[in-house]
Amino acid sequence: MVPIVACGLLPSGSPSVLEYFVIPGSGEIRVSVTVAGGPRPTAWVAFGASPLGAGLQSRWIDQVTARTVAGAPLGVRPVGDDAYRVDVTTNDAWVLEYRAVIGAPSADFYHRASTSSGDHMVLIGVDVWARFFDAPAAIGAAPAARPLDEVTEAGIRFDLSGLPDDWIVVSVAPEVALNQFELSDHPARSVFALGPYRYQDIDRGLGLRAAVHSGWNVGRRQLVSYARQLARVQAREFGPPPGDHALMIFTPLPPSVAPRQGVRTMGMVWDRSLLLFAGADRAVPLNNNRVREMLAIFLGHEIFHLYVPWGLAVTQPLSWLSEGWAEHVGRTSARTAGILSAAGADRSLREAYDRYGEMGGVRAGSLQNASQAGEDLRPLLYVRGELVFRILSLEWAANGKGGSFDSVFWRRLMTEYDGDTPLEPEAVSRILSTMVSPSTVRRLVNGAAIITLPELGLGRR
Ligand SMILES: [Zn+2]
Repeated sequence: MVPIVACGLLPSGSPSVLEYFVIPGSGEIRVSVTVAGGPRPTAWVAFGASPLGAGLQSRWIDQVTARTVAGAPLGVRPVGDDAYRVDVTTNDAWVLEYRAVIGAPSADFYHRASTSSGDHMVLIGVDVWARFFDAPAAIGAAPAARPLDEVTEAGIRFDLSGLPDDWIVVSVAPEVALNQFELSDHPARSVFALGPYRYQDIDRGLGLRAAVHSGWNVGRRQLVSYARQLARVQAREFGPPPGDHALMIFTPLPPSVAPRQGVRTMGMVWDRSLLLFAGADRAVPLNNNRVREMLAIFLGHEIFHLYVPWGLAVTQPLSWLSEGWAEHVGRTSARTAGILSAAGADRSLREAYDRYGEMGGVRAGSLQNASQAGEDLRPLLYVRGELVFRILSLEWAANGKGGSFDSVFWRRLMTEYDGDTPLEPEAVSRILSTMVSPSTVRRLVNGAAIITLPELGLGRR
């Protein structure tokens, strides 16, 4: 049975205490939530979606019912897109039950949506955990625009008895017993991954752990030691990552998204979780130098996201800053850690430059334009973003100013940041213009000037 917490202790209409009990099956979860406190006599229940995943939903919710703890049914009516009205005709805690069917469309791997495949399931809280409101206004918004309800505490307990023996649930949320977690916040902020994962420490002092899926095969032997070296290099540069503990969750790409050729990596950050995927075609030797270099740059890139955008939020027109800087720091921290040689760092950057040309680099226009243009220009903003960071760093170093460009820029941005409101392009341009020549900022950051090899310190054109 579901434990009932604080039943009757909270006056009605106060924030809820939620206890989720979850039974995962193949490609679906069955959920019962015990709600103590919270809205009554009418509760507006809704599910959200990732702002990036709107229109790409990989899950649907059905079989929604409500009852008292003793089992008497409560009235439930659908009232719109993934939204319900529940008549809470009890003064005690009550229970909402539903099923979430979770698919695996490849596009969703980039869109912070829950996914499942034969050997794992990743629940990105934003789309599978019910939210409870005391007024219909909140559910009037589209799922991607719905706010989170107020929760004083939440617990999630998983019953994995129907799944393979080696499956566990991993999460950055505090685990109070096997597969049981306690949160002080809505679980929609969290990630839970189910599968044959094992925890490993990356760096206790930095609060960084890994959960590695048994099927991960790209550079498996180096994975944790690379992450450790890269995290330490970045911590020396920027200080420890802002916030609490973080978890890197390593999952092999399912066959539907695995590459036909070469190696493919994907990553995203959600709360204090880094979701990392990789796959390779059968012909690729998984431990050769090039694969290890690629893995190191990828890990360095993703670890940097604990700083930007997770520790320091930026608005969408600054996506180039988040991605370009991550790419730049990924490569430079792999170099500093000694995983990449100087020649390897230059060669890999030169390859990035060639890709920039092949993609029609100038087509991106300004970085801000590429950040806002949508999916087809997205790859360009990573690579142009990185090249611009390289040029800014070289200019900073040539001017003989103290400290590295990256650490000084980070500290100045953090001085500007209030810890909550995402930074806007104006603030970034202003700070950059105090560090390098304003004309460099105008040409390369705000403008769409063509980037040349000599500017990158990579020889002649
Ligand atoms: Zn990134």
